[in-house]
Amino acid sequence: SVLADQIAAGEVVERPASVVKELVENSIDAHATTVDVLIEASGLKTIQVIDDGSGIDDEEVELAFARHATSKISSRADLFRVHSLGFRGEALPSIASVADVWLKTATGVGAGSQVHFKGGQLVSHTAAQARPGTEVTVSDLFFNTPARLKYLKSAQTELANIVDVVNRIALGHPEVAISLQHNGHELLRTAGRGDLQQVIAGIYGVQTARKMVEIKGEDADFTLAGFVSRPELTRASRNYLTVLINGRAIRNSQITKALIKGYGSKLMVGRYPLAVINLQMDPFLVDVNVHPTKQEVRLSKEPQLVKLIDQVVYQRLAQENL
Ligand code: ADP
Ligand code: MG
Repeated sequence: SVLADQIAAGEVVERPASVVKELVENSIDAHATTVDVLIEASGLKTIQVIDDGSGIDDEEVELAFARHATSKISSRADLFRVHSLGFRGEALPSIASVADVWLKTATGVGAGSQVHFKGGQLVSHTAAQARPGTEVTVSDLFFNTPARLKYLKSAQTELANIVDVVNRIALGHPEVAISLQHNGHELLRTAGRGDLQQVIAGIYGVQTARKMVEIKGEDADFTLAGFVSRPELTRASRNYLTVLINGRAIRNSQITKALIKGYGSKLMVGRYPLAVINLQMDPFLVDVNVHPTKQEVRLSKEPQLVKLIDQVVYQRLAQENL
């Protein structure tokens, strides 16, 4: 029902940034090489995400808006080896239940299609000329859930959240060219050439990127790659730490602690390094089913991972005589 959809939407779609996150993750899951995000009025007027990914077959485009209709997992066992960013089939129905959504898509085979949903109801489904890929336009977010609207923070904070979401996805996917525009101003554009340091430069500035050292490490279960700042380059907040597991930005206090421990006494109290840490592991070792937004994860072998991070950071800084 529309009501049930709205209740569930509350868990996935808290704010404009949640919409941006879900749509960009869908583009990445669709193997897009280019993703453009266009925002107006901090996402309250429109959020548009355009990709050059696989597109959706016309017969499946309405199904994409049905709850729990995901094309990404097909068995219970798949839940324990999630390779995609999405898997719950909740984002599109949730967004459509609290906004006005147009989705235009084409696979490159046959005609493209366009659907329009508003407040959880299908308004129209027509054939449409479209380049291969998918374009989703969300407007009037929370038009039918005034409580949600009221709960939002200032336009500036909502925009900051959007920027944060896009930055973290870009850091996790240097191989995808990602751009973000707000009210016609470009806030981010990555080249999509797989160069993480270049993405860091695009987000934090060239000077900052130069003060980062590359880290690499692995053990039997985990592969670690990324950049950490030289100890003289620190911040008073942990917002500049990005940890990704299999391309998904996550928060984990044990990993943060391990990173800080790697700096030893080089880090002043209350200061945090800038870092981007990409961890690759068997999806079996990470449980992303803890929360609908999938940011909280449960890790098997966490102590082993924590030790690896601490050691790799410590040794790398020592090697640079830092
Ligand atoms: P999930 O990502 O958990 O599968 P979503 O509600 O986000 O659920 O999306 C539903 C389905 O719609 C996806 O499984 C996918 O098949 C399709 N889909 C959504 N966005 C895109 C996109 N940008 N490109 C291709 N397919 C998409
Ligand atoms: Mg999704």
